[in-house]
Amino acid sequence: EAEVVLVGRSNVGKSTLMRELTGHSFDTGGKPGVTREPNHYDWAPEDFVITDLPGFGFMSGVHEDHREAIKTGIVHYLEEYADNVLVAVLVVDGKSVIDIIDRHSGPDEIPYDVEMFHFLRELDVPTVVAVNKMDKVDDRDERLNELCDRLGLLPPWKQWQETIAPITAKNGQISSLEEAVRDHLHEQNRDDL
Ligand code: GDP
Repeated sequence: EAEVVLVGRSNVGKSTLMRELTGHSFDTGGKPGVTREPNHYDWAPEDFVITDLPGFGFMSGVHEDHREAIKTGIVHYLEEYADNVLVAVLVVDGKSVIDIIDRHSGPDEIPYDVEMFHFLRELDVPTVVAVNKMDKVDDRDERLNELCDRLGLLPPWKQWQETIAPITAKNGQISSLEEAVRDHLHEQNRDDL
């Protein structure tokens, strides 16, 4: 069965988003780094499963080796199932993503989120960046333009509405994401004709 995958650093609101998308309730605020196995759920309105991959990146109390193992597991999963993945949703925290990206950008360092975005593109998996926690962001357009810039997409972000989807999962404001995902699904149906 075709799938939509969700990836993102821990604490960006992936479980909250999963709950909104599927109507299921998930462990939020659980111990970071514990979800090792991908979780699959039916996405009711459409005919595919949605897969929640473990959160990656820094988690307090989680050893670096363990963090690396989680990331490697995610990469292997995506490589193995890329052909089956209709859309990948990379979830980021709109409030902190620019700071985190800039802090980890350097001559021999690529921030996780940027790396994951490029990795998914290399695999030819259509990717939507769900920019969550927009309720905490005041300078919305500026922030989204900066994110485009960091991801190598030419601003303004409004040109990229199939790729950049600002959401507030906590309040159920996820329609931009649902639209972006649907756009990709329909594009692929057209390609198949
Ligand atoms: P996960 O680790 O990515 O699964 O993140 P969770 O879903 O557990 O959320 C982490 C924290 O972010 C929790 O305290 C959530 O209530 C909070 N959160 C999730 N979505 C939003 C949102 O849209 N806005 C705000 N302000 N907080 C959110």
